[in-house]
Amino acid sequence: MSLSKKGKLNYRCPACFSRDIDMDMFFDEQKQEYYCLRCGFTGDEKRVLEFNEQIKSKYKFLKMRVVSFNEDNEPLSMKKYEKE
Ligand SMILES: [Zn+2]
Repeated sequence: MSLSKKGKLNYRCPACFSRDIDMDMFFDEQKQEYYCLRCGFTGDEKRVLEFNEQIKSKYKFLKMRVVSFNEDNEPLSMKKYEKE
Protein backbone atom coordinates (compact mmCIF):
# COMPACT_ATOMS: atom_id res chain seq x y z
CA MET A 1 0.00 0.00 0.00
CA SER A 2 1.45 3.32 -1.01
CA LEU A 3 1.23 6.43 1.14
CA SER A 4 2.42 8.62 -1.66
CA LYS A 5 0.13 10.79 -3.67
CA LYS A 6 0.20 13.10 -6.60
CA GLY A 7 2.00 16.37 -5.97
CA LYS A 8 0.29 19.73 -6.17
CA LEU A 9 1.67 19.95 -9.67
CA ASN A 10 1.46 16.82 -11.76
CA TYR A 11 4.74 16.47 -13.54
CA ARG A 12 5.03 13.96 -16.32
CA CYS A 13 7.96 11.58 -16.12
CA PRO A 14 10.81 13.06 -18.19
CA ALA A 15 12.50 9.68 -18.67
CA CYS A 16 9.31 8.16 -20.09
CA PHE A 17 8.54 11.30 -22.09
CA SER A 18 11.93 11.07 -23.77
CA ARG A 19 10.62 7.79 -25.17
CA ASP A 20 7.30 9.43 -26.17
CA ILE A 21 5.38 7.88 -23.27
CA ASP A 22 3.16 10.17 -21.21
CA MET A 23 3.23 9.10 -17.53
CA ASP A 24 2.23 11.13 -14.49
CA MET A 25 4.59 10.84 -11.53
CA PHE A 26 3.80 10.44 -7.85
CA PHE A 27 5.27 12.49 -5.03
CA ASP A 28 7.00 10.96 -2.00
CA GLU A 29 6.39 13.30 0.96
CA GLN A 30 9.13 11.75 3.10
CA LYS A 31 11.88 11.94 0.51
CA GLN A 32 10.44 15.11 -1.06
CA GLU A 33 10.89 13.71 -4.54
CA TYR A 34 8.88 12.60 -7.51
CA TYR A 35 8.95 9.07 -8.79
CA CYS A 36 7.61 7.15 -11.76
CA LEU A 37 5.75 3.88 -11.41
CA ARG A 38 6.64 2.78 -14.90
CA CYS A 39 10.40 3.29 -15.25
CA GLY A 40 11.82 3.91 -11.79
CA PHE A 41 12.84 7.51 -12.38
CA THR A 42 13.17 9.48 -9.13
CA GLY A 43 14.14 13.08 -8.56
CA ASP A 44 13.29 16.29 -6.79
CA GLU A 45 11.52 19.13 -8.57
CA LYS A 46 14.82 20.69 -9.70
CA ARG A 47 15.95 17.47 -11.37
CA VAL A 48 12.59 17.00 -13.06
CA LEU A 49 12.69 20.54 -14.47
CA GLU A 50 16.29 20.12 -15.65
CA PHE A 51 15.41 16.87 -17.38
CA ASN A 52 12.41 18.56 -19.00
CA GLU A 53 14.65 21.28 -20.39
CA GLN A 54 16.85 18.64 -22.06
CA ILE A 55 13.84 17.02 -23.71
CA LYS A 56 12.64 20.35 -25.09
CA SER A 57 15.63 20.27 -27.45
CA LYS A 58 13.85 17.45 -29.25
CA TYR A 59 10.96 19.82 -30.06
CA LYS A 60 13.01 22.97 -30.47
CA PHE A 61 12.12 23.34 -34.15
CA LEU A 62 8.52 22.13 -33.84
CA LYS A 63 7.09 25.40 -35.14
CA MET A 64 9.77 25.90 -37.76
CA ARG A 65 10.00 24.63 -41.31
CA VAL A 66 13.25 23.94 -43.14
CA VAL A 67 13.48 26.03 -46.29
CA SER A 68 16.92 24.88 -47.40
CA PHE A 69 19.49 22.39 -46.14
CA ASN A 70 22.29 24.56 -47.57
CA GLU A 71 25.85 23.42 -48.18
CA ASP A 72 27.62 21.02 -45.81
CA ASN A 73 28.75 22.64 -42.56
CA GLU A 74 26.36 25.55 -43.04
CA PRO A 75 23.33 25.94 -40.80
CA LEU A 76 19.84 25.11 -42.06
CA SER A 77 17.63 27.87 -43.35
CA MET A 78 14.26 27.91 -41.63
CA LYS A 79 11.11 29.92 -41.45
CA LYS A 80 8.38 30.02 -38.84
CA TYR A 81 5.46 27.75 -39.68
CA GLU A 82 2.17 29.50 -40.35
CA LYS A 83 -1.12 27.92 -41.30
CA GLU A 84 -2.21 28.82 -44.78
ZN1 LIG B 1 8.96 7.04 -16.13
